[in-house]
This record gives sequence, C-alpha cells and structure tokens, in this order.
Amino acid sequence: MRMVSATTRVTLGLICLVISVWLVSYLLGMFPDNLAERTEGRVKLSENIALNCSLFATRNDLPMIEESLRKLLERNSDVLSAGIRRPSGELLMFAGPHDTQWTLKLLDKSNATQMRVPILEGQHLWGNVELRFRERPGENTWVRKYPLLGLGIFTNAVTFILFFLYLRGVLRHMDPTKVIPRRVRQTLDSMAGGLLVLDTEQRILLANQAFADTLGVPVEETLGRKVSDLPFAIDKEGPPAGGFAWERAIATGEAQFGDIMTLRDKDGQSRLLKVSAAPVQGDDGRLRGAMVSFDDVTQLRAQQEELRGMLQKLSHSRDEIERQNLELERLASRDALTGCLNRRAFFREFDRVWNTAGASARPVACIMVDLDHFKRINDVHGHQLGDFVLQRTAEILRDGRAEADMVCRYGGEEFCLLLPDMGIEQAAVVGDRIRRAVEATDFQGVPVTASIGVSVRELGASNANELIDQADKCLYVAKRQGRNRVVRYDMAAKQLAERPATERGTASATPNGSAGDPSIPFNAVAALLSALAYRDQATADHARRVADLCVGMSRRLMSSSESYTLEVAALLHDIGKIGVPDSILLKPGKLTSDEWQVMDSQHKIGLEILAASFSSTALSDIIRAYRAWYGGDARHPDLPSGTAIPLAARILAIADAFDAITNRNPYREPMTREQAIAELRRSAGRQFDPELVEQFIASLDLGAPAVVASPYDSGRIANIAARLEAATRNDTDIGSLVRLTNELVEVCQSAQRSLLTNKRNE
Ligand code: GH3
Ligand code: MG
Ligand code: MG
Repeated sequence: MRMVSATTRVTLGLICLVISVWLVSYLLGMFPDNLAERTEGRVKLSENIALNCSLFATRNDLPMIEESLRKLLERNSDVLSAGIRRPSGELLMFAGPHDTQWTLKLLDKSNATQMRVPILEGQHLWGNVELRFRERPGENTWVRKYPLLGLGIFTNAVTFILFFLYLRGVLRHMDPTKVIPRRVRQTLDSMAGGLLVLDTEQRILLANQAFADTLGVPVEETLGRKVSDLPFAIDKEGPPAGGFAWERAIATGEAQFGDIMTLRDKDGQSRLLKVSAAPVQGDDGRLRGAMVSFDDVTQLRAQQEELRGMLQKLSHSRDEIERQNLELERLASRDALTGCLNRRAFFREFDRVWNTAGASARPVACIMVDLDHFKRINDVHGHQLGDFVLQRTAEILRDGRAEADMVCRYGGEEFCLLLPDMGIEQAAVVGDRIRRAVEATDFQGVPVTASIGVSVRELGASNANELIDQADKCLYVAKRQGRNRVVRYDMAAKQLAERPATERGTASATPNGSAGDPSIPFNAVAALLSALAYRDQATADHARRVADLCVGMSRRLMSSSESYTLEVAALLHDIGKIGVPDSILLKPGKLTSDEWQVMDSQHKIGLEILAASFSSTALSDIIRAYRAWYGGDARHPDLPSGTAIPLAARILAIADAFDAITNRNPYREPMTREQAIAELRRSAGRQFDPELVEQFIASLDLGAPAVVASPYDSGRIANIAARLEAATRNDTDIGSLVRLTNELVEVCQSAQRSLLTNKRNE
C-alpha cells in the first residue's frame, strides 16, 4: 500500500487540530451566538412567567402564582430557584432555595443567572419575578462580557501551543538528523570526512559535523540549503561533463567517484575536496536523493605537490650529477697541466687498443717523446716557462690527431702516443714531423728539441707494455746519439745491444726483466682500487699519492714496464685493508696491540689478493719486500736487506713513508714537507736506501703533488647515507625519504663541485 505523503499528513493534522480547538471552545460555550441565544431564552422565559404572574396578580390569585413557580422549577432544570418579591423588598413567595441564594439587590441589574422581571397590575408595579438560573462555566466573567476577544485569545494561545508541539513532532519526522539514533549520529560526526544526504532537489537533508565545520556553520544551518548554492568551485582537473558528482548520481542513479573540487571554508581558504556520491533509494525502489562524501585532500595535495617538486629537483640534481660525473671522469683521466691523458687512464686505454689490434691483426704504433735538457730550461728560464713548453708540446702532439685521447703525459717531460692502424714507416714519419714541429716552435724565444723513439706491434712486442718499452729504449738511443732525433726500433738493434749500465732499465733485474708484465691488466688494478676506495676512501687516496711519488722518481731509474709494475704495486700495496674489519680500519683513536696484530695481517691478505689476481712475481716481490729495512731488521729475519731488496720495493718504502707522515692520520698530526724530508734523511741507511732517499727528495721539487686536504666532508655524506639507510628500514614516510635523498644528493653534488673546482685549479 502506498504511503500518504508527509505533506498530506501534515495538512490533515493541522486541519484536525483547528477543528478540535473550535470544538473545545464550543464545548466551553465560548461561541458568542449560542450564548446570546441562551440568554435570550432565559429573558423570554422570565418575561412569560412575569406576564402570567401579572394576570394572577390582577386576580389576586396568589396560590396560582406560587403553583406556577413550583411547576417552572420542576420542568426547567436550568432554573434553580424562583421567587416573587414585593417592591418593598419582601419576598412574598418562592420555590427552590431562593431566599438564601438570591444575591441581586433591588437596584442591581439582571444578569445571565439572576433575572428580575416586573409584575404590573395595570400601570402600577405589583412586584418582581426573580428567576435564578444554573450558572454555566465562564458565565459572569470578562470572557462573557467580551466573548470575541476571549475566543480570539483562547484560540491563539491554544493553537500556538498545539501547533508548536505538533510541528515539532512533524519536523522531527522530516529532519532525518533528529531521527537518526544518537550513536549513529555520533559515528557520522566523528568521521573525518564530510557527509551529506541530499534529496532529489539537491537540498541538504543531513550534514555531519565535519562538513559543517568545513563551512564554519552549525549543522542546522546547512539543512534545507541547496548544495550547489554552497561556495563550490570546480577544480581544473574535474569533474567530467555532467555536473557535480551528486547531480550525476541523481541523474544516472549510479555512484560517482573521485571528483576533485574546491570549497571556500569559513576562513575564506580554498579546501580541496575529493567528492564521491551514491544514489539513495526509498523502500519502493524510487530514487530519493544522494549520499555525498567529501574527503579533504588539501594537505594530501600539498604534500603531493611538495613531493612532485622535490622529485623534480632530484631529477634535476641527478642530471647535474651525471653531467658533473662526466666532467669529473674527464678531469680524472686528464693531466691537469697539459690536458693529455694521464698514465692511469692511458693504461686502461692501451690494453683495449692493444687487444683490438691483436684480434684484428692490425698494426699499432707507439711513439715516446722526451724533451731534451728540459731540466736546464727549468733551471735557466724558470718553471713557469717550463710549464708553458710542456703545454705547447702537448698541443703539437695532439695537433690534427683524431684520437687525441691516445696522447699521454707519461712522466714529467715525457709523452707517449699510441697510434692504432699505423706501421713503422708511417710512425717514423709522424715521429719526425713531431720532432721538427717542436724544433720549429717558438717557445718564447727558448730553443727546445725532443728525442723520439718509435716502435710497432709487428716488431715483436707481446703486450702493450713491451711495445712502450721498445719505444722507450729507442728514445734513449736517440739521447745517446745526440738528441733531437727519431730512432726506430727496427733500426736500432745494434745500439740497443750496447746499452750502457748507467741507463735506466738496468738498475734492477726483475725476473720479468724489461719485457713488461702482461700479467697485470690495468683494468683489474683499477677494479681492485675502486673496491678499496669503497671500503676506505682515505687509504685509496693515499695509494694514488704514493703511486704518483713512485712514478715521479722511478722514470729516472727503470724501464717503462718496470715503473708500471712499481706503480701498480704502489696503488695496491694496502689492498689487504679490504680484509680488516671496519671497527679497526676506521677506528678514530689509537689501536690496541691486538688491533695492531689484525691490522698487520692486512699485508698477508694483500699478498694473497695480489697473488690470486695477477700472476706477476715482480709485483708480489715488491709487496713482500717493501717493508724490509735497508739496514736489516732483527724482528723480520725472513725479509731481505740492502740492495737485495728489489729497487721498486725500496722506492715504494720511501714514497709510502713520506706520504704517511705528510698526511693526517688518527695517531699523528701531519708533518710539513721539510720535516718529512728531514725524517727521511734521519732514517736513511737504517730504514731506507740512502741514495734513493736523495733521489726521491730531488724528484719532489716538481714531481710530487702538494698535500691537499679532502675538499669535501665525506663524514657528512656517510652520515646522511646512514640516516637514509635507517629510514628505508624503518618504514619512514615517503616525504622524509625523498627529503633525505635530496639532502644526500645535495651534499654529493657540493662534494662534486668542490672536487671539480679543485681539479680545475690544479
Ligand atoms: P734529457 O735531455 O736527458 O731528457 O735531460 P732532461 O733534463 O730533460 O731530463 P731529466 O729527467 O734530468 O729532467 C726532467 C726535468 O723535467 C726534471 C723536472 O724538473 C722537469 N719537470 C718534470 N715535470 C715538470 C713540470 O710539470 N713542469 C716543469 N716546469 N718541469 C717539470
Ligand atoms: Mg728530457
Ligand atoms: Mg726525462
């Protein structure tokens, strides 16, 4: 059965109420017409009685008068008592309790309950009939006197109270917020998001506290308003065509999700709301409206924006880091003064070039260039001019060469060129062109010449180092023959055989001789070194500095391949530290004797690593012996002493000690170069080869790099990295993770920048 609508019920209710009010007032005798009628009836009755009495009085029939009074009382219940009073005031006769109840004085006027009518005998007043009627409620009050006013006031007061009570009930019925059980309402109000129930006209039937709070008005004030009249603005991202989510829900009868819109809140601030709307159906299945939920995503969106901004910044930073990395890599592989490839970058390259050439049986040429009497140029014209000569020479060597990267500053004033696809004839021509170009160049008025050695793979070299060695030997033949000339390996067999003992390459007799060491591919060396750098950057930096110091002096004393082996030994002499626990390796204070023992074991570990990585006995010999004392050490009887210690090991010992004492370490403040030189001299003969100490000191003036403190704060980088790592483990929110990552990227970038600035200034 269809239910009667609420409006119809309310109307019927009101009509019933009005009718009941009138009914009650009628029952109370408040209808003015009814009252007048009754009073008129009483007057007529009184006048009839008076008329009868007049007749009987004329006949002086007093018993009939008394009889008619009695009869009147019997027949008419409205009459309570009746009496005949003479004009003198004497009560002649009466029926009912008239003598005691009649209160009207002689001169008083009749009223609705006590009526007095005169009995005339001709023209003369014989007496009065007095009738006393039953008193009805309200009779003789002001309401009787002013009946319309009374009715008006009464009706207004009663209908006001009844309407009020009734409408309150009706409105409660119509306002769902009141009929929802309190607990459910509390639950709705405790929801963080706003909630509305709308009718099909989009009027708000229910709003929860969160929604009202957003608007800054009491819940009651939102009720009955059209939701689209609220200060909504559609966000640029939504909603799709079709209007607000609730409009679409009402129109289509389907739930709508995820519109984004803004609402101005009580403070005039824009709040970003995610709106979803679901249609609401009545029991009869008809659409009655929609339920709308509002999630305030202002903060979420702000965080998203912040995240997006940070991610963008991170991606910019990443690009910048990549760019700076490339530049750093380029700078790290270049010699700062001449821009040529440095030795280590060159070693990496020459293995590759050699292997490619070998695989395709193509020629490779090597040209070694050494400036003549360069020391004299420095001494006479100063280092600045010397530097200028080196730079100009580098330009000549690189000139017109597509593979400019293959030009290496091999030592102080030595350059090495590796030229793929070039036979000996062509290489000799190139060599001579270089020689002539150097000779012809104006070095600010200073004449400069170069000696050049040339060899090619076809002449028998079994590895790149050996090829360089051949060119190097030719270079020294050129020096011996008077400088400023080119010597080809294929044409110098005789001269090479008669090499004097004072020349480099003869001072040591390594098992591999000067044939170079094919068992040490530089890529493997670089890989081990970067493993060490990951573990302990400071040690890796020390190894690189020691290698530079060794190369700086070894080029005077040994062949190119021997000096390569020494360089590798210097780079990897501390590789055993990979096996020392962090607690000891990175301990900031002094080590205990037990810790020293563990630290000492690193030499054994190092030897094992090197033996396993390379099958070079020369390298192992250097590492095994470089800690031996020149004057002998009773604590290590197994180690050699004096010149039995390989030359390279004696050089490494000096370079290692020098770098250790000129750089800060946990147990000692760094010494100045002068103090370190004095220290080396003090230990010469006992710990170090005295002759080599002097040669080392002589090589220091230019060859050795100055002690440079780390240009960035590696501790800070490690600290942030550790925090970031901890944050990833502790489920920290994504915002903090990005912030930390950002911070890390920024310190890394600033580290890069200072490295770049340092490198550029070198
Ligand atoms: P030779 O003709 O036999 O090659 O004699 P030389 O003087 O050229 O050879 P030596 O090896 O005795 O001296 C090389 C000099 O090169 C020693 C060193 O002072 C100088 N030198 C090395 N590196 C640099 C540098 O970067 N700048 C300057 N100005 N001089 C350098
Ligand atoms: Mg020279
Ligand atoms: Mg030289």
